[in-house]
Amino acid sequence: MRVLIAEDDNVSRLILRRALEDLNFSVVAARDGEEAWHLYQQQPFPLVISDWMMPDVDGLELCRRIRAQQNEGYTYFILLTARDSREDRLHAMEVGADDFLSKPLDRADLASRLSVARRILEMEHRLREANTELARQKEELELKTQALEMSQEMIQQANLRFRELFDNVPVACYTFDVEGNIYEWNRAAAMLYGWKEHEVLMDSIFNTIIPPRELEQIRQLIERVMQGEGCVIESIDRCRNGATRHVLRSLFPLHDASGQIVAIIGASVDITQRVQYEQELRALNERLESLAFTDALTGLLNHRALQDKLAEHFARAKQNGETFAFILLDIDRFKHFNDTFGHQAGDEVLRTVAQVLQRYSPPHSIVARYGGEELSVLLPGYSLDEAIGVAESLRQAIASTPTPYQQVTASFGVAEYMPYMHTPSEVVEVADAALYEAKRAGRNCVRPLLQEWEQAA
Ligand code: GH3
Ligand code: MG
Ligand code: MG
Repeated sequence: MRVLIAEDDNVSRLILRRALEDLNFSVVAARDGEEAWHLYQQQPFPLVISDWMMPDVDGLELCRRIRAQQNEGYTYFILLTARDSREDRLHAMEVGADDFLSKPLDRADLASRLSVARRILEMEHRLREANTELARQKEELELKTQALEMSQEMIQQANLRFRELFDNVPVACYTFDVEGNIYEWNRAAAMLYGWKEHEVLMDSIFNTIIPPRELEQIRQLIERVMQGEGCVIESIDRCRNGATRHVLRSLFPLHDASGQIVAIIGASVDITQRVQYEQELRALNERLESLAFTDALTGLLNHRALQDKLAEHFARAKQNGETFAFILLDIDRFKHFNDTFGHQAGDEVLRTVAQVLQRYSPPHSIVARYGGEELSVLLPGYSLDEAIGVAESLRQAIASTPTPYQQVTASFGVAEYMPYMHTPSEVVEVADAALYEAKRAGRNCVRPLLQEWEQAA
């Protein structure tokens, strides 16, 4: 341990130095208070032993100066004195002296005083170290507390931001566990389904938005989502007021901090309007399609539809030998009828004849308006003879159906599919030729395929 001694008497200084060196101190000696103060300022000493009585800076002044200077470590200050009065010593202790050594120096006394000094300095040193460590720990703790407070605040902020986002996003969002129990429910969900958040929390999606018929499918999807899969499906959800909504539902997994899937996020986009538009559009398309194949006046198939049917049956006959017959009929002297009763009456009669054909044609017949006052009946699977029978009964039905004007009749040409024919129109041509024959024969009669045609073929 380093020790600074201040002693103006050469002999005393030497004796003190020796005694201290014998006790293993490393000694720096000053000849007076001024020098001691100078040395101390260069580097503080843990132990100072100073004579009291010195010129200029005496021991008390040196002690006062050392105490006034704030050092990191403590300096144990011993005064060497011949002064023994109680007042002197009290005064010296007030100034900051720790102990006294009487002059002349007693070595045993010196040794015991110094061992006390050593103990005290060591204790002071340990205390200081403990203090430093304590201060370090305190600072560390403060930093940690600060960081914790900051992260808590950040979490709080993030929570607030999330809640705001969750609530204001314009899509119905909700979270639920594997059993379907609802944990979160945003404002858009409340708007879509009609249940407020507090009404559904901890209730199940199966008691609220999922109708029984969707239960199985949703359960299966939940299992898939719990395996980490996301999915999007269209479904029909239930609302609080009992109404249903078509929704596009997305389901995806919700992870906790450790990455484990703990719940499911659901998001429903209301597509009810779109589904309605689609349904309306489909109905409209169907209607358009039927309009394209229907004759507006009679409600029968139109010429175009008849062409399709003829082509279809012609191809079938060619491929499988499924034969068919074709009747073409034309209202007799219709021009005259129109001239007499007006076009409107003509329309009315046309409609009546169409109804008669539909009513009296055998099942599976295809009745069409060929064009103008010419109508037709396609008879799948019929032979020529069978078709002549049908034509005859249709002729009679027309001839015996009353109209508010005058009785109308029609002439009939009948043809059948023949293997030599190349196109469907050949069947029509034959029927048309037969119809011409019926007209020539005086009208209101049935004529089949002409003998000459067959011979020509
Ligand atoms: P025929 O016995 O030789 O068949 O004599 P017709 O007068 O019926 O023959 P024509 O082909 O000369 O005349 C057909 C008439 O059918 C002419 C046309 O005014 C009438 N007609 C064609 N389509 C319609 C229609 O949609 N409504 C009405 N009211 N008349 C029609
Ligand atoms: Mg005609
Ligand atoms: Mg006619």
